[in-house]
Amino acid sequence: MTGDPLDEGTPLASEILDLARRRANLAAQVLPLPSATRVITVANQKGGVGKTTTTVNLAAALAQAGANVLVIDLDPQGNASTALGVEHRSDTASVYDVIVDDQPIAEVVQTSPEFPGLTCVPATIHLAGAEIELVSLVAREQRLRGALQAYLADHEVHYVFIDCPPSLGLLTINAFVAAREVLIPIQCEYYALEGLSQLLNSIQLIQRHLNPELNVSTILLTMYDSRTNLANQVVQEVRDHFPEQVLRALIPRSVRISEAPSYGQSVISYDSNSPGSLSYREAAAEIAHRGAR
Ligand code: ATP
Ligand code: MG
Repeated sequence: MTGDPLDEGTPLASEILDLARRRANLAAQVLPLPSATRVITVANQKGGVGKTTTTVNLAAALAQAGANVLVIDLDPQGNASTALGVEHRSDTASVYDVIVDDQPIAEVVQTSPEFPGLTCVPATIHLAGAEIELVSLVAREQRLRGALQAYLADHEVHYVFIDCPPSLGLLTINAFVAAREVLIPIQCEYYALEGLSQLLNSIQLIQRHLNPELNVSTILLTMYDSRTNLANQVVQEVRDHFPEQVLRALIPRSVRISEAPSYGQSVISYDSNSPGSLSYREAAAEIAHRGAR
């Protein structure tokens, strides 16, 4: 009788073995810390592609590995703040006060309950008005950059991740001007590459006029479903276009990933050894080993 699903050679057994191997691999790794702060903007003007999920889980994975990580929630939806379990009711001091009213980041930053090295500048609903209020301010594209530089001058932070809203307005421009790296999450679906050229054009404009150091260092494929041919085609196409930038790690579609935020947690602490968490930890390890480009 060969009916036991855990017999070697069955799909279930090989999946379990594969997870165990990946876990052991990650446990054996010590991630290098960057010598200078890496500021990474997570952007894609398409909605729902996994920007916030990627921001929160990479930040948590790097914090778990010993890095000091600051997440800046630059989306009025405040999803990153929710997912990291930090207060962001409308009366909470937030990124709005930083970019519109010049309040120092040190006065609004909160520590996530997940890891002592994981901090977050929350976003509240007030940020929804900032897009318009910024227009009349001096140096409206450089507000976040100035605040971040002042904060980094006397705080040791290894990674800053900026979670952008799904648009290419002034908030996202502030994120591009404050960062050196852009990380683009791409959902493994049919329309994945649509809109990408508009995003890359905007980044080029920022490089030319506002921040010559900016570059697209990283592309991460998200919500991958290995059972569909389509997902595999998208993966191949994106890898062909961007061989340097695409991470080897692929983020699978996973219920654990999508339910973690409702517990105010990243999947890294919610279910550390689940396939989704392992994938984000592998992506974080690749980012750490590659260093800034
Ligand atoms: P927005 O443009 O609105 O800011 P976003 O790009 O930040 O969206 P997310 O909020 O990260 O996207 O993800 C969109 C939805 O998909 C969320 O409900 C999230 O929980 C879910 N999701 C993200 N990644 C995965 C995944 N790998 N597996 C399953 N669900 C996922
Ligand atoms: Mg989001």
